[in-house]
Amino acid sequence: MSTPTLLILPGDGIGPEVMDQVTRIIDWFGAKRDMPFDVTTDLVGGAAYDAHGVPLHDDTMARAQEVDAVLLGAVGGPAYDDLDFSVKPERGLLRLRKEMDLFSNLRPAQCFDALADFSSLKKDIVAGLDIMIVRELTSGVYFGEPRGIIEEGNERVGINTQRYTESEIERAARSAFELAMRRGKKVCSMEKANVMEAGILWREVVTRVGLDYPEVELSHMYADNGAMQLVRAPKQFDVIVTDNLFGDILSDCAAMLTGSLGMLPSASLGAPMANGRPKAMYEPVHGSAPDITGQGKANPIACILSFAMALRYSFDQGDEATRLENAIESVLASGARTADLMGPEGGTPLSTSQMGDAILAALDASL
Ligand code: NAD
Repeated sequence: MSTPTLLILPGDGIGPEVMDQVTRIIDWFGAKRDMPFDVTTDLVGGAAYDAHGVPLHDDTMARAQEVDAVLLGAVGGPAYDDLDFSVKPERGLLRLRKEMDLFSNLRPAQCFDALADFSSLKKDIVAGLDIMIVRELTSGVYFGEPRGIIEEGNERVGINTQRYTESEIERAARSAFELAMRRGKKVCSMEKANVMEAGILWREVVTRVGLDYPEVELSHMYADNGAMQLVRAPKQFDVIVTDNLFGDILSDCAAMLTGSLGMLPSASLGAPMANGRPKAMYEPVHGSAPDITGQGKANPIACILSFAMALRYSFDQGDEATRLENAIESVLASGARTADLMGPEGGTPLSTSQMGDAILAALDASL
């Protein structure tokens, strides 16, 4: 097979700082695991606006459509807050998601044992937690028509429409079942079928797709109960699949079970390309963190874990992804911390590049 291709878009703020550490990890896999990647780097967000007057150049968009995976850092920052909506840095990110048709957003909530004290929940509820939320990303109430604010009588009415086609539900469900097959073989689908027709259809279609996966145990839960269960007993879940709106809320809730924003990766996947790999973009959940930009304080782990997701979901290198995750786990277990992970007991935090050094040393030790 030809050398896999990666497009790296570091973006703004701490994006380039954390992505530098990912580049070192990519180089390590090339040198030490005989897994070279053909890497191109380009601009997105404010950086692209500064260079081209748009938050994503057409050539960059075209390259994103060609490569096996896109790795993105973060976009945005105070320098761009007053720009017209059409050229705001976030528009670059949204264009990538839309034109690549990335309909399945994967947000793992994984609690490293060494950080269990960071959760707002009791340690025994979150220690060892490993769940995956699959959020439908391209349809639902954020996109449904009609929408708008209209005049009705002597007052205004705000309208949004929850709308899902069977095929939109089916492809999100299928991606959840496929994931469950590689994990704990459990899917819990969340909607509000008790009060929403779109929820009734969602439940029907997910149930039908589930028949193709007899090994996977399927359950259904109303999304409000799902929110309660996520904070009561999150370890009961393996894969959760849900729509765009509920997924937005539930994935943020689940993410915080694990502690710090600097630890959270994500993947957005689309349809398979000619080579069988899904269209894919991997990015940390955090933003460009202007308050710490340029100070060497950023935690690179969310971005590095996003690359681990790329190894697993784009390049079928699950064992190597686990090697990288284990290296991070061992670094954290040794007590190494960036500033965002410092507990009340204090200590000297590692800089962004020192955390990169520690993870590379742990990767060397894994050989
Ligand atoms: P943020 O995620 O950038 O920062 C929130 C807080 O978390 C800050 O205190 C920051 O220092 C801290 N933080 C975030 N990532 C960290 C890391 N890796 N290591 C250590 N600390 C970290 O969110 P915000 O402050 O609301 O937004 C800042 C800018 O980022 C805005 O312009 C916003 O629009 C943009 N943003 C972009 C994305 C994206 O690119 N996907 C996501 C969210 C926000």
